[in-house]
Amino acid sequence: MTKLVLLIVAFAAAVAIAQPFHEGKYVIAPVPPLTDGDSAHHFDVRFYRADLNLPMTSGAMTARVSIDLVPRHDGFDTFSLHLVNLVCDSIRRAGNGCTYTTASGRLLVDLDRPFANGESLTVDIYYHRNAGVQNRGFNYHQRGTQGIPHAICYSMSEPADARYWMPCFDEPWDKAERGCAVNITTPDSMSACSNGLLDSVTVDPTAGTRTCWWSHCYPISTYLMVFSASKWASFKQWYRTSPTESAYVQNFIWPEDSSAAVRSFRNVVDMMDFFSDSLIYGRYPFEKYGHVEAYPFAWGGMEHQTQTTLHQYYIQGGGDNVIAHELSHQWWGDMVTCQDWRNIWLNEGFATYSDELYTYHQRGRAAFLEQKRSRAQDYFEEEAVDPHPIYDPPYPDHLFDWGHSYCKAAWVQHMLRFVVGDTVWAEPGVFFRALRAYGDSFRYGTANTEDYKRIMERETGLELDWFFDEWVYDDWYPVYSLGWQGRQTGDGWEVVLQLQQNNNSGAPPVFHMPVEVRVNWSGGSRTFHYDVSSNPQQNVFPVDGQPTSVAFDPNEWILEQHTTHVGVSEMPNADYRTGLSLVGPNPSTGVARLNYELARTAAARIDIWDGTGRLVKSILAGERPAGRYAVNWDRRDGRGNLLPAGAYFCRLGAGSESRTVRLVIAE
Ligand SMILES: [Zn+2]
Repeated sequence: MTKLVLLIVAFAAAVAIAQPFHEGKYVIAPVPPLTDGDSAHHFDVRFYRADLNLPMTSGAMTARVSIDLVPRHDGFDTFSLHLVNLVCDSIRRAGNGCTYTTASGRLLVDLDRPFANGESLTVDIYYHRNAGVQNRGFNYHQRGTQGIPHAICYSMSEPADARYWMPCFDEPWDKAERGCAVNITTPDSMSACSNGLLDSVTVDPTAGTRTCWWSHCYPISTYLMVFSASKWASFKQWYRTSPTESAYVQNFIWPEDSSAAVRSFRNVVDMMDFFSDSLIYGRYPFEKYGHVEAYPFAWGGMEHQTQTTLHQYYIQGGGDNVIAHELSHQWWGDMVTCQDWRNIWLNEGFATYSDELYTYHQRGRAAFLEQKRSRAQDYFEEEAVDPHPIYDPPYPDHLFDWGHSYCKAAWVQHMLRFVVGDTVWAEPGVFFRALRAYGDSFRYGTANTEDYKRIMERETGLELDWFFDEWVYDDWYPVYSLGWQGRQTGDGWEVVLQLQQNNNSGAPPVFHMPVEVRVNWSGGSRTFHYDVSSNPQQNVFPVDGQPTSVAFDPNEWILEQHTTHVGVSEMPNADYRTGLSLVGPNPSTGVARLNYELARTAAARIDIWDGTGRLVKSILAGERPAGRYAVNWDRRDGRGNLLPAGAYFCRLGAGSESRTVRLVIAE
């Protein structure tokens, strides 16, 4: 789902943060999300069939929902569904009547007999919605109001409003494995669309009605089910799924908007090609895609499965971002669904990063970075007044906070790419491979933050607890101050970098994010990439000339704020040269022998960077008394790969002391 524009967001939020609303004699408070997957739930939904009869002259509806479900325990004779603003008329099971009660947004069903664990049953619930009920979940707008050319009736269910148009188990973690069928009857002059494919259309000339029969045979969560009815025009766009196969995007819009829609959707096939590339997200996961117009609509777009609902603004030329965002949700949100609303960042962060990636694809790196910067700013401003982690944002009012669930969450994806070393745009690598592995592992199911972390760790070989702890489970962001100074040495120049983090109270005291600093000198520059383990931290690197300036995070990989200044202060015990030496055959061939000397008892550590400043190997020597030692380096990186000949930098650290030398490996 995306916001429309900030002005409208503020308005919608003001409306949404209403008092608990009244339904008859019950006062319904917002329902806190249940937490723990299917364990909170004693049956499993397999299929929803909804038959909706919409007169389209008011918000009234008569309907039936048939639910196929499987009990999870023996003696299953009663169960409860979510139901709000709807009136249940009768419930039948295989022709037998069932008794029921309604209370506090729930429909409690007593079955005609007990069922055994694993036995399947179908329950038919006949119900209606009265005219005049407030728009929520189910929206009806009359022709002529707010300039609407045709009466329109549509659903909008995220996060928990499917219950306003059909009785259901309305939590994201119980997908209906066999999918859904939604059949919508309207006046014959109108038509309707829903998830999946249009199987047939039947017309009843006597009643003057038309029924559109839609079905979708992939697992689906209730918040991703949709219906939309109005006077629709429709067109299809075809894209190739393989050299010999194709599929389509079907768009439903008001006839008045059809030529604008053709223009607005001109890049949709290119978006589909981009996201479904085998090096990006892989094959599109469903049988078709599509859009349907909505107005008035409190949101920019909503990623209903195979059928995105899009605000009229984007049909009339509002731009590609939201269109790309909702399309990418078909992978991230629909194919793999957040297990519960604590994990909303997995939906919105991935989709927001996707529309940024599409910006890069379409308009290049400068446009991409400008978008990243602007969204970082939106996050900083929001965090200043409403600090909270992106994991488990306050429910429900802060679930869709633009700065957090969208902007920061997209930055987290960007930073993960940096941390795992997948930084070359033209060559999508391990980050995208891990993302596809995550998609494969939870395809058509649900996943949570720990699931994502586990797959990322498995695919990259990195330990990422620190990253998720600091960026996902905690709030704020690093505020760096970088002091720097050039120093002449016996054999050239070096630069001293002192990095201080002045993080907000409530933030992690140290963000362990690796950083990049570009050091410039007359006639050259080099970007150093190094780990951060303390605050403050001092690093010294050899450079090929007298440093003239530095740039912190020059490639803009980190969600941070920083200042830089010339000059370094005395670090406690930071006499970085005393007692340390590092000498070996230089240049060396084959195994490099690294000699070092300790002035006092210390645990030594040797870090080796390649010429680009990338850390390739760390050797831990353990604590030893003062003396001379040597270690051998076989030119292999941490994963055992043999590294090419060239220039490397070896940094010996012991306690707070360090010494860096350049090591040339010859063939
Ligand atoms: Zn979204």
